[in-house]
Amino acid sequence: NFKGFDTLDLGGVLKDADVLIDLSHAKGHGACGYGGAIKNLALGGYSGISRWTKIHAVAQYDKYWDKEKGSPEHAKKLVEACPYGALRYDSVNNNLIRNYHDCHQCFTCLELDLDIGSVKVPRESYSAFQEMMAISTDKVLETFNPDKVFYLNFALQITTFCDCVGIAQPPIINDIGVLGSKDIIAIETATLDLIKKEGIIEKNIPPFLKHVNLDPNEDLHPFTRLHGAYKDPYETVGFLEKLGRGNSAYELVEILSPEETAKMKPTKRVFEGEPSFF
Ligand code: SF4
Repeated sequence: NFKGFDTLDLGGVLKDADVLIDLSHAKGHGACGYGGAIKNLALGGYSGISRWTKIHAVAQYDKYWDKEKGSPEHAKKLVEACPYGALRYDSVNNNLIRNYHDCHQCFTCLELDLDIGSVKVPRESYSAFQEMMAISTDKVLETFNPDKVFYLNFALQITTFCDCVGIAQPPIINDIGVLGSKDIIAIETATLDLIKKEGIIEKNIPPFLKHVNLDPNEDLHPFTRLHGAYKDPYETVGFLEKLGRGNSAYELVEILSPEETAKMKPTKRVFEGEPSFF
């Protein structure tokens, strides 16, 4: 039982499969900062109902709105004030709902609510989602022999938001390469570290993100800078490491570096059997 949720519907094909190749596109994500190998299994391994009404819903366990303290008029003012359109007022149930994916923790709503105290943006609800992803990933991996699991992270065309958003986005981080490992913690930590080292392409920051923290004196991951202080991409990795699913002390072995491939003879013709990196 985690925050009131005690069952999840795991995809039967995963339960039946003998081998798992977790192939992921590394990119930013509005809900938790980053989407890669863990999020691929944490959400992708479950039915739509489990994904939306349980795994995602855990981020709402600590209620945003206290209807006893705030009036409907106050709620509507907060909706209008939120610069990211993250608030929705349900007048039938007198409920003010915060979409934590869209919330960039700018705290404009908290400032407006200062004398009333009807809303809160708790750090814990973001951590709860990160921990839930670690739990649901752990449950997927429980069904596999660890020797028959491999991870591939494509750190290419790394965008601010998940590609499932369905909009064309420019890359926010330069291409890094393709990472492979048998250890989910090692590959996720290495991917995140390489993205952090590469840094943000500032001219490609979506213009509607008004609170991106670019202060070089703060040691923040690029995805935390983009998505808000409470969305730490390393958090779910830490939770899963505590569950014993790998080791963050990785060793990076580079194969086919740009220096190496640049010296290779170019292909004479274009065909499937030729190298694909020219
Ligand atoms: S913290 Fe900012 S983005 Fe989040 S709900 Fe409040 S006003 Fe909207």
